[in-house]
Amino acid sequence: MCFIEFYCRHRHADAPKGPPPFEIPELTASAGPRPPLCADCHKLLSHAVYKRLRCPMDPKPACKHCPTHCYHPTYRRQIREVMRYSGRGLLLRGRIDYLLHLLF
Ligand SMILES: [Zn+2]
Repeated sequence: MCFIEFYCRHRHADAPKGPPPFEIPELTASAGPRPPLCADCHKLLSHAVYKRLRCPMDPKPACKHCPTHCYHPTYRRQIREVMRYSGRGLLLRGRIDYLLHLLF
């Protein structure tokens, strides 16, 4: 499950989820079909993918070390929020699995 899918499922539980509003052939080719998300999260994911596919740096550095900051500031704030939320959530879940594994 990707970060945005986890985030959307928890934070936007009430928003209607659907397939992406438009296809990004390069993405479907490399990562398969995108998960159902709410409209806002699709926008964010598409922006992230678009920027990544068109990154002018070669080799591409980790985005947080990149001098360019190609993300639009609004999306950059959102993607940071998504990473923080999902990172913590997935970590927590990982720990619960680990605990159960220890106990049983
Ligand atoms: Zn969402």
